[in-house]
Amino acid sequence: MEGGPLLMIPGPIALSPEVLAASSAAPPSHTDPAFIEIFGRALRAMREVWRAPEGAVPLVVAGGGTLAMEVAVTNLVDPGQQALVIDTGVFSDRMAQILERRGAVVRRCRAPVGEAISPGALREALSRRAVHAVFLTQVDTSTGVRIDVPALAAIARGAGALVVVDGVCSVAAEVLDQDASGVDVVLTASQKAIGAPPGLALLVVSPRALAARRALLVPPPLSMDLASWIPIMEAYEAGRPSYFATPATGLVVALEVALRQLLQQGMPAIWARHARVASEVRAGLEILGMRRVPASSAVSAHTLSVMYPPEGTAGALVGAVAARGVAIAGGLHPQLRHDSVRVGHMGWVTTQPQLLQRTIRAVGEGLASLGHEADVDAACQAISG
Ligand code: PMP
Repeated sequence: MEGGPLLMIPGPIALSPEVLAASSAAPPSHTDPAFIEIFGRALRAMREVWRAPEGAVPLVVAGGGTLAMEVAVTNLVDPGQQALVIDTGVFSDRMAQILERRGAVVRRCRAPVGEAISPGALREALSRRAVHAVFLTQVDTSTGVRIDVPALAAIARGAGALVVVDGVCSVAAEVLDQDASGVDVVLTASQKAIGAPPGLALLVVSPRALAARRALLVPPPLSMDLASWIPIMEAYEAGRPSYFATPATGLVVALEVALRQLLQQGMPAIWARHARVASEVRAGLEILGMRRVPASSAVSAHTLSVMYPPEGTAGALVGAVAARGVAIAGGLHPQLRHDSVRVGHMGWVTTQPQLLQRTIRAVGEGLASLGHEADVDAACQAISG
């Protein structure tokens, strides 16, 4: 919001001026020919951003990341089927909870806080029992841990399992190639690195996942059913109106602008920029006396930094930074809630070094107000102009 705080939380994120302008237009009719064309373009753009496999279907449904998770679970897994969750934090735990509600038999392969799961650990877990589907969280927003999706997905596929990736805090920022990685569902939401307002669940579903839906004995709730939505998405991509439930037309218009801006930059350039910005922001925060939660750079997300601030400052730091016009987030993971903070750096802000410097300065001055002085100018210089 213009004039509001700078959003450096891990979503919703600050929008580009073009997406902001598109979000303030009047929502069109879902049967307006111009809207049909826009929706079709958004779906085609998702194929490119995700690097969708041949025959996959992109879906845009009003909701968010949690809804996208429930769509994936209820369309791929029947009650009683075996599921394995690679657990790197709160959002992997949420996936396990959704699977349990579905009646699946859920096993977790849980990493200590700040660590990822090694390929060897997954291989071991899969060797014990046949698994129908494996669930990965590319970046868990509660720990800032990033996992190696291609390596883990290859092992899961090798064991004959379906593979679902929660990419809510990674799609459009972390390296992703759904086709090359053999992932069946990659899901996200509109409010993070995609760079649109909150309100949309976004998924790309492989032919194998569609076959799993057809083989289900217990169908999903109607509003989450791929069978309800796929004909609608196919119609919009083919330039025809279609109705199952009213789409969030205004949000789809903003989404299409956001996706177009991603493709104009090119995904490799976006991935490289997020990696550079993440290391610069963390270098700045470390100069201010913070320590990172993830165990190493190899497992650190490029979309957010989960950091331990200097002793005794975590409780008041979010408020002290907010008083300087920048919104950062407090700890979320139960083991980190009281002694960590989370700083998002994804999407449009990664093209705006002065906003990144403003963030580092707000954190530095916030820490100083809590009695921890550091060289704020040196920290700001970690951000390359
Ligand atoms: N998964 C991850 C990794 C997330 O970061 C989030 C949101 N922070 C979700 C799922 C849930 O998304 P939503 O809040 O849009 O339901």
